[in-house]
Amino acid sequence: MIEAGTGKRVLLAKPRGYCAGVDRAVQTVEEALKLYGAPIYVRKQIVHNKHVVRTLEAKGAIFVEENEEVPEGATVIFSAHGVAPEVYEQAKERSLKAIDATCPLVTKVHQEAKRFAAEDYDILLIGHEGHEEVIGTAGEAPEHIQLVDGPEDADRITVRDPNKVVWLSQTTLSVDETMETVARLKKRLPMLQSPPSDDICYATSNRQHVVKEIAAECDVVIVVGSRNSSNSVRLVEVALDAGARAGHLVDFAHEIDDAWLAGAQTVGLTSGASVPDELVQEVLTHLAERGYTDVEEVVTANERLTFSLPQELKRDMKAAAAARS
Ligand code: SF4
Repeated sequence: MIEAGTGKRVLLAKPRGYCAGVDRAVQTVEEALKLYGAPIYVRKQIVHNKHVVRTLEAKGAIFVEENEEVPEGATVIFSAHGVAPEVYEQAKERSLKAIDATCPLVTKVHQEAKRFAAEDYDILLIGHEGHEEVIGTAGEAPEHIQLVDGPEDADRITVRDPNKVVWLSQTTLSVDETMETVARLKKRLPMLQSPPSDDICYATSNRQHVVKEIAAECDVVIVVGSRNSSNSVRLVEVALDAGARAGHLVDFAHEIDDAWLAGAQTVGLTSGASVPDELVQEVLTHLAERGYTDVEEVVTANERLTFSLPQELKRDMKAAAAARS
């Protein structure tokens, strides 16, 4: 039963949820399933979200860890996080039809890495060790790239020539923590160059920005997102840093513990860049059933960016349409 007039409210962050790169990656799998039929193999989770992966599995996608699990000659889609060049080579060796759903903003960082490596720079890649995106980017120039995983890691870095060093980053980091890492690196390497344009993507920084706006007013901030989603995990950290009394990450509404809401007048709500909005709507219903009927959307930016589908898929879709007509 929905209680009314409790004074309990929800501050709903916008932008939240799907970014242009995730939307494109999910559509890539859906369109490939329609065009080529199931099964379609996807190397790694197409985006880091449990619900999205389960939904695509139900439609006929098979998620694998490596190309060698894909039958020779089959179609494989590479995830939004990007892959190292050797992954394309392995696909070629197995005669796989590869469709690359890497987000264009990750590809941009790959291009920067290749360019600076070609100019013989030492590249300091700020990112989380073991994250797929970092593995892919580092694979572009392993002999030039060193990983810097957070501000403390900055102190152990050594470079060949302190006048020829640049930093790049993973796209989904905390903006503030990255700047702290850069400041610490610059203390030791004053000539450290910055990337030609921001590597932390618009979606990551916009979602962090709006959370910062609402956090101080919130008794608890709930972030919808999966544990392996870097940008979702960062949103909880940013909310806490910006003054939220508590912060929790959930995949689904039913994971919300009633104890988190005890005494909470204002609940902040947002979602990571790989989260479909239906999951946020389910959280809103869950909260309304507990008296949080007053929902105020706090908007700090309007996002209109979209990316077109991968060329290789568009080509086949066009050919199929021409064959039908
Ligand atoms: S979070 Fe940013 S880099 Fe990652 S898929 Fe979305 S737009 Fe691309």
